[in-house]
Amino acid sequence: MDDIDCAAERIEAFNAGALKAVLNRMDGPSSSGVCQDCGCVIETDRLKANPRARYCRECADEIEQESRRSRLCGPR
Ligand SMILES: [Zn+2]
Repeated sequence: MDDIDCAAERIEAFNAGALKAVLNRMDGPSSSGVCQDCGCVIETDRLKANPRARYCRECADEIEQESRRSRLCGPR
């Protein structure tokens, strides 16, 4: 019986999975905890503060700056 061995592994998996499950529930199925731009893992505090975050801090800053610029200049 490897039930006991599995229990320890399950607790670890649960801790990691529980956070992800909560985040996924808040953000929808597209949330992966991974930056959609550079593919690195998004900081946990960032996800806690903003569960919808799809980009790491660096990429989010870049995207925000870009969108602000394009809003100022307009698409024309
Ligand atoms: Zn990134």
